[in-house]
Amino acid sequence: MPFWGSMTRRSILTPWRNGRDAMASRAAATVRTWQIFGRSHDKARMTSKFSLIGSGLAGGLLAAFLGRRGYEVELFERRPDPRAGNTVGGRSINLALSTRGIHALEQIGVAREVLQHAIPMRGRMIHDKSGALHFSPYDRDPNKCINSIGRGALNTVVIEAAQRYPNVRVRFNHRCTEVDLDTPAAQLVQVETNEIVESRADAIIGVDGAFSAVRRSMQKLDRFEYSQSYLAHGYKELTIPPAADGSWQMEKNALHIWPRKSFMMIALPNPDGSFTCTLFWEFEGPRSFATTTSDSEVRRFFEEEFPDAVALMPALLQDFRDNPTGSLVTIRCAPWCYEDKLALVGDAAHAVVPFYGQGMNAAFEDCVVFDECLAQFPNDRKRAFDEYFARRKANADALADLAVENFVEMRDKTASHAFRAKKKLDHTLEGLLPGIYLPRYTMVTFTLIPYADAASRARRQDRIVYGGLVALLGVLVLLLLLLIRLL
Ligand code: FAD
Repeated sequence: MPFWGSMTRRSILTPWRNGRDAMASRAAATVRTWQIFGRSHDKARMTSKFSLIGSGLAGGLLAAFLGRRGYEVELFERRPDPRAGNTVGGRSINLALSTRGIHALEQIGVAREVLQHAIPMRGRMIHDKSGALHFSPYDRDPNKCINSIGRGALNTVVIEAAQRYPNVRVRFNHRCTEVDLDTPAAQLVQVETNEIVESRADAIIGVDGAFSAVRRSMQKLDRFEYSQSYLAHGYKELTIPPAADGSWQMEKNALHIWPRKSFMMIALPNPDGSFTCTLFWEFEGPRSFATTTSDSEVRRFFEEEFPDAVALMPALLQDFRDNPTGSLVTIRCAPWCYEDKLALVGDAAHAVVPFYGQGMNAAFEDCVVFDECLAQFPNDRKRAFDEYFARRKANADALADLAVENFVEMRDKTASHAFRAKKKLDHTLEGLLPGIYLPRYTMVTFTLIPYADAASRARRQDRIVYGGLVALLGVLVLLLLLLIRLL
């Protein structure tokens, strides 16, 4: 058990008595000081107290990483404990977990446990309007897959991973309202009692998602950069329930896509035999969430656009009415840290739209890099924070661009023959040029190649391949013309 953990426990169980002997009282005084400032006696490692705001996906995992390093961690979450039967709420019900996320979970020893709850998806199952299906594998290696995982199950695993460390304490129902950057201290409200709580620490980490309260406090800093941009599309979650015998009503090991040019629906499988469908559709416009409101309009829209799915959705109208319409935002900011006192991790630093299935994976990768930077500079937290920001910022920006581009690919291009031909060409080239040619999707989803490098390498590859194809076509035309003249 880390030293501070036993100290804290002792301080609760054994009140410090005065005057036993000089040594004992000196020791007691020292311990009180450590408790006040939340520091460990392990000065060589500059152990500190971290207050983490937000125990979502990244918050839970980061607490586990910091707990494992022996830091004192207090993790505050505005929602109730998800294990008490409360849904995580507000975001998608399930997510695609891929190599980067799995790598992070492996570091903390919970990847196998998580994957037990997951369903592998080996490719895209494209549904056209006639109901015809086309399967397009994600990789030439059929074992490479992304994994559909329930947000609630994953959140529980990471929180429990953190709680295995006695130096990590999790406090649910605590909403952060503001952060005093210089102390640093987080102001929180206990949402059941309205009690105001202050958490002082050596550093406060904002892992509180896209609309981060910690980031909001940083926005008051001079020259802090911030931008947010919303897509014209929103999303609504709907359900395809299991068949009467509990089985899946569509291919289970695929991510289903109904691409319809300017909008689309997708579906990911759940372990209980159901699918969670997400409709991505314009908020405004002649045919949009705004104009399609009555039951008959909704039914007509679905029957026209997704006839094969609507037959499997008995609760469509109620789901459509009851489920909120979410918005899709990209958030960029800089810097992600303030001195050695504050840092942002996950969506709080870089929210991206969900079309590459990488937001959570990137947030988990942040946790790995954050942990590596603390290990690299154990006695200089400011350098560790700066290094973390330097290593991650360009990659988060690249992912934000990739995610928006992939929306166009998913909703429009996946339906075309050209898309399928390009995927086949990608896989053929990957086979012919092992280690030299890697499709962009493969680099982003199935490797740990930094996002920015993956994006620039894919652009280079495209230039060479398409340039080569054009040159080849030119030579063929010339040869043809020569042949015609000779004849
Ligand atoms: P969050 O998961 O948002 O967690 C933040 C936590 O902080 C929450 O628990 C919240 O309650 C808490 N909090 C917020 N404010 C406060 C406060 N003031 N005080 C205390 N606590 C607070 N990513 C993928 O990798 N794959 C996918 O397939 C995928 N699909 C997605 C589908 C949709 C529709 C959407 C919207 C997103 C999807 N994502 C996906 C992205 C993914 O959801 C996020 O990137 C991920 O949740 C980020 O984790 P986080 O911990 O940074 O933030």
